[in-house]
Amino acid sequence: MAEKTVNLDDLVSLCKRRGFIFPGSDVYGGMAGTWDYGPLGVMLKRKIMQTWWKYWVEDREDMFGVDAAIIMNPKTWVASGHTATFSDPLVECGSCHGRFRADKIVDPKTGKNFDATVTKEQLNSDGAKCPTCGKTDWGEVRPFNMMFSTHVGAVLPEDIAESANDSKSKGSTAPESANAKKLVNNSTAYLRPETAQGIFTNYKNVVDTLYPDLPFGLAQQGKAFRNEISPRDFVFRSREFEQMEIEYFVNPETWEENFEKLLMSVHDFLENVIGLPASSLHEEEVAPEGRAHYSKRTIDMNFDYPIGSDEIMGIAYRTDFDLGNIARESGKKMEYRDKTTGKVFTPHVIEPSFGVERLIMAVLTTAYTEEEIPAKTESDTTESADFAQAKSSAKSETRIVLKLPENLAPYRFCVSPLLKNKPELVEKAKAVYAQLRKKYGNVTWDDSGNIGKRYRKQDEIGTPKCVVIDFDTLTDDTVTVRDRDTMEQTRVKIEEL
Ligand code: ATP
Repeated sequence: MAEKTVNLDDLVSLCKRRGFIFPGSDVYGGMAGTWDYGPLGVMLKRKIMQTWWKYWVEDREDMFGVDAAIIMNPKTWVASGHTATFSDPLVECGSCHGRFRADKIVDPKTGKNFDATVTKEQLNSDGAKCPTCGKTDWGEVRPFNMMFSTHVGAVLPEDIAESANDSKSKGSTAPESANAKKLVNNSTAYLRPETAQGIFTNYKNVVDTLYPDLPFGLAQQGKAFRNEISPRDFVFRSREFEQMEIEYFVNPETWEENFEKLLMSVHDFLENVIGLPASSLHEEEVAPEGRAHYSKRTIDMNFDYPIGSDEIMGIAYRTDFDLGNIARESGKKMEYRDKTTGKVFTPHVIEPSFGVERLIMAVLTTAYTEEEIPAKTESDTTESADFAQAKSSAKSETRIVLKLPENLAPYRFCVSPLLKNKPELVEKAKAVYAQLRKKYGNVTWDDSGNIGKRYRKQDEIGTPKCVVIDFDTLTDDTVTVRDRDTMEQTRVKIEEL
């Protein structure tokens, strides 16, 4: 059986064709950097998120969950440094006026991307080409803050316009303009660019209410928003996405050993729980100049995507950067009293941070398989004689299979009657369907087309087993169970399913 390696277009096309992921606002021509999940995509996404929550929170005694508001007090982003530094280097092509992230432009001299400190002069003298028009005519590289701002409360567009005019006409003392500006300033808030700050800002609430033993972790799953300069590569770089983050609070003297333990759990989760091959995962120790402003050590975990090797998640040692900043900005102490020594200190933090979309893409990349199989591999008792003959003369056909791990597959079983127009088969199949749904929940029904087509459809959505009810079932209560990966068919007693 020959197998072809996956490319991004294959994944995007399968996801759309089978109802996993659609472009956001598709009906209106899309909305750059946003994606919508269809019925199967929601099931896959929820399973990944639930599996993560079970592994990191429910199965551990030292982890607790929080679920904070998406819109937070703007002081949060001043304290965290996001207002001042959460930016990417933006550069504009003087010829076509396309705007790009300067650190994603390839340096023709090295064949690698420029780093984030690249200048206009360097881009031009190295002859870097615009990815859109191919010219070399770069403008200044400017920091572009990626937070989405909004206005909270009853602020009218006129108020904002008035405020803008007000700031242009410097020195204006008109009371109504000054009021409008104040109103706008006071109402500006941001959609959170990371879930982490919703955890840090609840640290004190949790210590005051639960007082967990140290080390302990707080976990959160939820939406994050970044106004990415160039959203790209399917869901990999989106403007609205979902994060799953843990802030793990430790005694500063023990940060190194806790970092190593969490890193081992990261490998265990990625490889053994959601089934990514260890050979496709690569740790990258991030150099000081490449680390986020808060980090003293970062390991980016990269995965071999169809677009190349890139970050799937990261683990960072954030020191007491965040708790220290919150203490300063809020005037409240962010300390912890050690339960045995009585010593009081501000804990340090290690953060494993996962992106749901990047896990989905990695799971799909791993699962997607195209196989050339002999055309007559799977007999189909319902197809017409002409079709069967045409098929038998073809040498091979392509089978697309999503070899998803059983714990992540949207459906565990598909149940079908062999023939849709035989009421006794349909009735028996419905009974088996109801029984399996009661037992497993995620079971689907399919009586469309012929058996061969049903198998192909279930292969594409990753259903591990297809259960077919035929005339023998009516007499001996056995069914045919067809395996997704091997295509083998076995006869099994209904009660053994
Ligand atoms: P990158 O370098 O790829 O922009 P990052 O280092 O800025 O990512 P973090 O701030 O560490 O990312 O965010 C934690 C995780 O959130 C990332 O490992 C990734 O899985 C996910 N993530 C970040 N930005 C995006 C995005 N625009 N779209 C989808 N997932 C994202």
